[in-house]
Amino acid sequence: MSSKQTDVILIGAGIMSATLGALLKELAPDWKMTVFERLGTPGEESSNEWNNAGTGHASLCELNYTTEKPDGSVDISKAIKVNEDYQVSKQFWAHLVNSKLIRNPQDFVMALPHMSMVTGQKNVDFLRRRQEAMAANPLFQGMEFADDPATLKKWMPLIMKDRTSSEPIAATRIAAGTDVNFGALTRMLFTHLKKQNVELNFKHQVDDVKRTADGRWEVKVRDLNSGQTERHTAKFVFIGGGGGSLHLLQKSGIPESKGIGGFPVSGIFMVCQKPEIVAQHHAKVYGKAPSGAPPMSVPHLDKRFIGEKEMLFFGPFAGFSPKFLKQGSMFDLITSVKPGNNLTTMIASGLNNLGLTKYLIQQVMLSKEQRMEALREFVPDAKNEDWELVVAGQRVQVIKDTPSGKGTLQFGTEVISAADGSIAALLGASPGASTAVSVMLEILRRCFPEQLPSWEPKLQEMIPSYGLKLVEHPELIRQIHATTDRALGLAAAGKLHSVM
Ligand SMILES: Cc1cc2nc3c(=O)[nH]c(=O)nc-3n(C[C@H](O)[C@H](O)[C@H](O)COP(=O)(O)OP(=O)(O)OC[C@H]3O[C@@H](n4cnc5c(N)ncnc54)[C@H](O)[C@@H]3O)c2cc1C
Repeated sequence: MSSKQTDVILIGAGIMSATLGALLKELAPDWKMTVFERLGTPGEESSNEWNNAGTGHASLCELNYTTEKPDGSVDISKAIKVNEDYQVSKQFWAHLVNSKLIRNPQDFVMALPHMSMVTGQKNVDFLRRRQEAMAANPLFQGMEFADDPATLKKWMPLIMKDRTSSEPIAATRIAAGTDVNFGALTRMLFTHLKKQNVELNFKHQVDDVKRTADGRWEVKVRDLNSGQTERHTAKFVFIGGGGGSLHLLQKSGIPESKGIGGFPVSGIFMVCQKPEIVAQHHAKVYGKAPSGAPPMSVPHLDKRFIGEKEMLFFGPFAGFSPKFLKQGSMFDLITSVKPGNNLTTMIASGLNNLGLTKYLIQQVMLSKEQRMEALREFVPDAKNEDWELVVAGQRVQVIKDTPSGKGTLQFGTEVISAADGSIAALLGASPGASTAVSVMLEILRRCFPEQLPSWEPKLQEMIPSYGLKLVEHPELIRQIHATTDRALGLAAAGKLHSVM
């Protein structure tokens, strides 16, 4: 069977492939690109607006990006990294809007205050110290702390209403947060790519990825409508299959794919669409993870903007399913374990993470009433009939051997690439879609070292902070906030929205 030739193949039509495709179209407009997606439309898996929390992760509310040191001071280095990565995403999106390559940014990003909330005196003291450390940094300027009921009622009326507990409670609030509809953004980016003559193939599943004798990559693709198999070759392949990436990476056989496993964690949200309740909450309010819980199951109550509607999401509750994709197979986990590749890593991980497995099984077993109890810690008078359960996406956490132990569970994202840069895959899911642009820049650095010097002027034009540590350039931070907020329609973010 003859194979069709192209320059770049992107596997999967989620936010990651969309972002890499959009970057490459700006940097190498003449390259031929082909996309294969097993589902019928782009952004149907984790990137879909119903499958993730839509938080523009910038460390403005997530307590797990800071740690308390033994001397009581607060380490904000990870928070700085996550924030800087999000500023990179915002700059690229602003460039696409300013260049009229995508339109109507309000359809995918909205200004929304980000808050952290804690209860108990020890946590309140920590939150105060954390706010002092963060507000002093130019990236987090404007973060406020309150522990007085009057201010807290103004900031989060639904959470404070009918609260009878006398336990100390405090929150931080920063107006510069966002709610991002990553599904809408993914769809917009693929519409843009289509206009730029990128070949998009939906209902096309990649079943195999093999090196050819001349050093190119051949992908074996099944047309799910006709059942026919096609072969396509490219100089560069990006495996952006989300949960589907690990299996394809293993098939590539590159040495870098060895000894890596995946552990799927599913998510469930509780959603309220009653306008009179939704109108009482205008923020993303992140709490503290219960003890033993993985970092991605920090409970939070978010205003969401989906299509024309506003609604509230609470969760996510973690759970376990052996599928690596929401629309995946029950055999995904078992078929990812391979003797001579990752078997010992997976066994070690299973033994190391018995506590997590037990936690996830307990979470799966929760009844709706038990989930309502967790919600009532945020919304004391929440009623069963106002909230429905919605199954979210699957997150496949990376398992690998690290200096700290065999079979260690990772909670971040991992770029795996061949030594010659001809193939790369993205594994893991946190901080996730928010950092898509930084992660794809990392792929450009690893896989296109020859082209990068000639691409850098364009990269600097699109992303003014490219190559710089923003935290060392306070003036640039102010400029970037002003220009991205203007382009993305976020400029009104500073005002306290009336929710009463
Ligand atoms: C519950 C939950 C909450 C989250 N909250 C946030 C959040 O608040 N903020 C944030 O930034 N991130 C969040 N994330 C993470 C974020 O959703 C993901 O990091 C991001 O969407 C991953 O994008 P992707 O393109 O890699 O994968 P996906 O969006 O899953 O896309 C992968 C695509 O590849 C396709 N595919 C797979 N295998 C094949 C194959 N063999 N052939 C062809 N196509 C294939 C799939 O069908 C899919 O369309 C959350 C995730 C979950 C699950």
